Amino acid sequence: MRTAIMGAGLSGLCCAYILEKYGYNFDIYENRSCVGDRFVNGEIIMEILDRPVQDIFSLLAKEYGLYLKAANVINKIIIKSPKETATIQDFIGYITIRGRHEQSLEKQIAANIKKRIIFNSDRTVEDLLKNYDKVVLATGDGSYSEKFNNYTAHVPVNLKGATIEGDFDPNTVIAWLNNNFAPQGYAYLIPFNQKEANVVIAYPNYEHNKKYYIDRLWDNLLNSFNFRFRITDQFQITDYQLGIAKKCKIDNIFFVGNCFGTTMPFLGFGQTGTILSGIYAGMDICGKSKYEREIKKLRNSYFDSLALRREMEKFNNNDYDRLVKLFNTKLGKKVFINKKVNFLKYAVKASKVLTSPHMSK
Ligand SMILES: Cc1cc2nc3c(=O)[nH]c(=O)nc-3n(C[C@H](O)[C@H](O)[C@H](O)COP(=O)(O)OP(=O)(O)OC[C@H]3O[C@@H](n4cnc5c(N)ncnc54)[C@H](O)[C@@H]3O)c2cc1C
Repeated sequence: MRTAIMGAGLSGLCCAYILEKYGYNFDIYENRSCVGDRFVNGEIIMEILDRPVQDIFSLLAKEYGLYLKAANVINKIIIKSPKETATIQDFIGYITIRGRHEQSLEKQIAANIKKRIIFNSDRTVEDLLKNYDKVVLATGDGSYSEKFNNYTAHVPVNLKGATIEGDFDPNTVIAWLNNNFAPQGYAYLIPFNQKEANVVIAYPNYEHNKKYYIDRLWDNLLNSFNFRFRITDQFQITDYQLGIAKKCKIDNIFFVGNCFGTTMPFLGFGQTGTILSGIYAGMDICGKSKYEREIKKLRNSYFDSLALRREMEKFNNNDYDRLVKLFNTKLGKKVFINKKVNFLKYAVKASKVLTSPHMSK
């Protein structure tokens, strides 16, 4: 039985790791010239959004013997709206590095796999289907799922980001909820270390948001900084699609990572789900569990996350001020700190209250 994996990113590599661990025959194809061949950026894993998974790194080590290291632990998050600031101190999650960096998450996973990756691949899914019993699609977007008429797109996202040099606390991330910086979206600062951080704005590229110039929103954010910084690298992405596959598996084809729909629409986070989808598909191929059953939890989180996004999209800056004020209260902090609270479900209800006409008066 031979399996082909198309894409050596987070999900494809995790699937490969499992197949190798259980001695299954596979090849992994990557169309770029090395693992992580893209811009370096800092990404975060937030415990609050991953629940009931509380620590993906511990889970990977304990359940699958896969030892990965985050760049940093996040023990403080500062959330800023136009007029309010909330600070939450607790175990918030992890900062990871992605892309060309030596310690990027994808490079760490690849280092755990002995099988040689076939780089600069131009194989199509049709080529692979001719030569393999099973094909895992892990190309990082929904285009292959669309090709199989198996995908619903929900949110097209515009992103602009930069690496900046300055003085940062490597354990603190900052998030801005402010429609002047990111209409219906958000902005964030993620430090890689004490001297470097990633700053990003992300907002949905809906028709009614096309009137905004991304460069102007970007300048609004940078001009609000009250600290010294220097830009060393920049990136911009238009229409990064967030969507989900109707089926995670069609005959002998498995859809994993973003080919399935593991990036959650609320804030565009997806590393935990992406990693797990690759593992679950690998476990299914090895006859250890059923991909359809395991992926259900991720599908449910996706739709909870989409429901929260739809609520947040109604927020004006006053609503953001009320929300951030709430995070400063005992109840607001409890949502972060009490690991048993299903944040996504709770937040949908709370958002409905915050945007109700009564509250907006
Ligand atoms: C700017 C940005 C910021 C983000 N921030 C966060 C964050 O803070 N927290 C978070 O959790 N998530 C974040 N995400 C989402 C997260 O990065 C994704 O969920 C995750 O990378 C998806 O993994 P994947 O395996 O589906 O795709 P990838 O990791 O992108 O891997 C896909 C691989 O397939 C290869 N490939 C593509 N086409 C082919 C082909 N035809 N043949 C062979 N190989 C191919 C690609 O080169 C790539 O190596 C962010 C995403 C972006 C774009």
